[in-house]
Amino acid sequence: MARLNSNYLKLKAGYLFPEINRRVKAFADANPAGAARLIRCGIGDVTEPLPASVRAAMHRAVDEMGARESFHGYGPEQGYEFLRHAIAENEYRSRGIEVADDEIFVSDGSKCDCGNILDIFGHDNRIAVMDPVYPVYVDTNVMAGHTGKGNDSGLYEGLVYLPCNAENGFVAAVPEEKVDLIYLCYPNNPTGATATREQLAAWVDYALANDAVILFDAAYEAYIKDPAIPHSIYEIPGAGKCAIEFRSFSKNGGFTGVRCAFTVVPKELSCATSSGEKAPLHPLWNRRFSTKFNGVGYVTQRAAEALYSSDGKAEVQSLIGHYMENASILLEAARSCGLAVYGGTNAPYIWVRGPQGMSSWEIFDKVLGEANVVVTPGSGFGPAGEGYFRISAFNSRANALEAAARLHALDWK
Ligand SMILES: *Cc1c(COP(=O)(O)O)cnc(C)c1O
Repeated sequence: MARLNSNYLKLKAGYLFPEINRRVKAFADANPAGAARLIRCGIGDVTEPLPASVRAAMHRAVDEMGARESFHGYGPEQGYEFLRHAIAENEYRSRGIEVADDEIFVSDGSKCDCGNILDIFGHDNRIAVMDPVYPVYVDTNVMAGHTGKGNDSGLYEGLVYLPCNAENGFVAAVPEEKVDLIYLCYPNNPTGATATREQLAAWVDYALANDAVILFDAAYEAYIKDPAIPHSIYEIPGAGKCAIEFRSFSKNGGFTGVRCAFTVVPKELSCATSSGEKAPLHPLWNRRFSTKFNGVGYVTQRAAEALYSSDGKAEVQSLIGHYMENASILLEAARSCGLAVYGGTNAPYIWVRGPQGMSSWEIFDKVLGEANVVVTPGSGFGPAGEGYFRISAFNSRANALEAAARLHALDWK
């Protein structure tokens, strides 16, 4: 009899967003008037249209595809040289970080990369994740069989959880114990926290001392305003020997529906083989791309390249400015309720501590029922998120202002 991958059966069924949708639907069915004025500040998807320079580049690329002389079939699996070069130059070399074009791997999304990266690691690594956490890091490890069973609060046996809370500024401290793979995400989803140079340096030192690899998710680096905060893990000396970086065009260029991202795997990064020697990871990831992927579409790669044109850069800045103005409006509204607020200044998420004694889901129901605003319950990202909720700044200005006014008007006593 054919067998399924029973690791999938360990995944928690009532996962966060389906449960949010269930509660919103139940509310809407019972309150048609409330449903009509619903504002969603929950899911982390962009709302503003694609930049003009991106659309123009896509139109040009489509026309090229329509002529025999300029048609493109299969491209290089790792990405066209024009895009790998634009990325390495604009994101790294122009900022004094040595990354070669062929250390960039262009993909259809960071979510996919975060999951796929496990292909090139062994099954006996000790894996650390933050709590609260972007669920993709956890669930992909569950699917790969790297965990035991999950408990009711969503913690899986076999993973090392690094609690992030108000005391540590939502930045995971290096653990006492030895771990091999460490997922870090800064600026953070869901907490909106950023890590300082010193905090990242402590992680790089830890990884170098323990032969560990950091999987650094920088999907929100474009939202960093404070010039002291690193945009890339490679700003930290030694990180090229111990870190893989994930970047995405989803949140800066508004590409959530276009699909384009990239991973940096430095050639100097190596790991232990089963016989204990060290071997580089770059050829493995390269091989994985060639074997299991046929590259991102030509039109999409031209679209991503356009983000590095001077018009494209200005348009990205204006998108970021739009969402960050929303963030400041929503942050002030939450603060005006007398609640402790975090994030929202170098990230598009505001992380709010609810009143003492109220659970995340109780807060969710209250905000939905009384303000008709959908937020995300913090406990859905892990037990350390209990009592918190996340407000997303991805919205139109009109919706952000209206949601802020309604949050302000709530009675939290
Ligand atoms: C949105 C997001 C991404 C980007 O995912 P894509 O697949 O590139 O759209 C990656 N990591 C985190 C934490 C995110 O929130």
